[in-house]
Order: sequence, then C-alpha cells, then structure tokens
Amino acid sequence: MLERKLYCSDCNKEIEAGEDIYAKMKAPKHKIMVEIKAYLKKESDILCQECFGK
Ligand SMILES: [Zn+2]
Repeated sequence: MLERKLYCSDCNKEIEAGEDIYAKMKAPKHKIMVEIKAYLKKESDILCQECFGK
C-alpha cells in the first residue's frame, strides 16, 4: 500500500497501485542511507512508464 499518492513528475498523472514506475534520482552522497524515504521524496523524480519511454 502506498502511504501517499504518487504523481508522475512529467505528465502529473496519478500513479496507480501496482503500476511500474521509474525514479530518477541523484546518487546519494553517503553510502549508508538511513533516511531513504526522506531522501527519495526530496531528491527523486517519479516517472510513469509512458513518460520514461519517451
Ligand atoms: Zn507520465
């Protein structure tokens, strides 16, 4: 279950549960990532399958 709704950062389409998504993100500066969720929220762009394939 998703805790919050995800939206494609390109087309703003709502990502449906079970749909394949792609996250474009910067490589972490630290090897050990304690706050992975916070990091993803801050540093990643979520793309739907359609936009990723463009
Ligand atoms: Zn999209």
